[in-house]
Amino acid sequence: MSTAHESLEGARRIVLKVGSALLAEDDGRLRTDWLDALAQDVADLRGRGIDVMIVSSGAIAVGRRLLGLARGPRNRVLRLDESQAAAATGQIQLAHAWQEALAGHGVKIAQILLTTDDTEDRRRHLNARNTLATLLRLGVVPIINENDTVATEEIRFGDNDRLAARVAQMMEADTCLILSDIDGLYTADPARDAGAAHIARVDAITPEIEAMADETAGDDGSGGMITKIEAARIALQAGCRLAILDGRDRHPVRRLQDGARATWFVPHGEPQTARKRWIAGALNPVGTVHVDAGAARALASGKSLLPAGVTKVDGAFGRGDPVVVVGPDNSEIARGLVAYGADDARRIAGCRSDAIEGLLGYRGREELIHRDDLVES
Ligand code: GLU
Repeated sequence: MSTAHESLEGARRIVLKVGSALLAEDDGRLRTDWLDALAQDVADLRGRGIDVMIVSSGAIAVGRRLLGLARGPRNRVLRLDESQAAAATGQIQLAHAWQEALAGHGVKIAQILLTTDDTEDRRRHLNARNTLATLLRLGVVPIINENDTVATEEIRFGDNDRLAARVAQMMEADTCLILSDIDGLYTADPARDAGAAHIARVDAITPEIEAMADETAGDDGSGGMITKIEAARIALQAGCRLAILDGRDRHPVRRLQDGARATWFVPHGEPQTARKRWIAGALNPVGTVHVDAGAARALASGKSLLPAGVTKVDGAFGRGDPVVVVGPDNSEIARGLVAYGADDARRIAGCRSDAIEGLLGYRGREELIHRDDLVES
């Protein structure tokens, strides 16, 4: 029996991962009809007020054709420098194809190229997050790919499955959809074993599930089922549900909404709670922000911390670092990720938010700690 968790019901922010094999033919030509149908699905989601971010592969597949680095003897593996050259060329065409397809449905796009540092390093994470958040606020659909042209072997995601899950985590998406060439996970390879059973719902990534991923064929692009399971692990930790669905036919998202079969990985707890747990538990606070009674009350009622309520700032910390918030009696009232480094925080302490630009010379956030980055102690 399917429940709200195993559908798009209640979705507010979706990451959609589209693999190379779906976007491009074997010879690297883009499947424009398919893409146009997907653009319609995306426009439908946007029309329902759902934020959509697309993690799109295909730069290398498209670029190797353009550069004459054809697949040759079936699937010749490119050297790193060749894939980077192919990505550099293919990404332009890929982004253009998305732009054309979505513009046809009145949807604006933006291109974001990320490396692992952008999602792992706190400051860069915060920056990437702010840009993406602003794009979403402006109704734009970001088209995201790994920045293949600069990523070295050691710092590459290498597959967009995990990149999609990282984006979902970073942006607190509630749903991550991985379009694949198979409708999910099976107990064995369905192409070889008639007894292979489809798994409709996974609540935890156990060794059994990992073993099934090993068995299940189905591989679009570089990931295969293994990286999809890794992606699911990241998504679940972030409180985001993730579905692996068959994207080969047109309108895969619409078909999912109409009940098409998929494997749903279902998290425990709401995304917000999971993230807040992460802030509350997993971090080593590196500074202390003292606030007045008014700010303490505002925090208790779920509001953000504005600079105006700050009486003192202790410690050396950078933007995005975890800090403790203490009330007038010096007792801890909250923890959170601070939007300004310690020096700037000291400069704007006690000031109204509209004075920030004058004091710092740039226009930062209104909040010292946004309520999404704040958890009561
Ligand atoms: N970033 C690669 C590309 O655009 C794809 C990685 C993957 O296949 O997951 O070609």
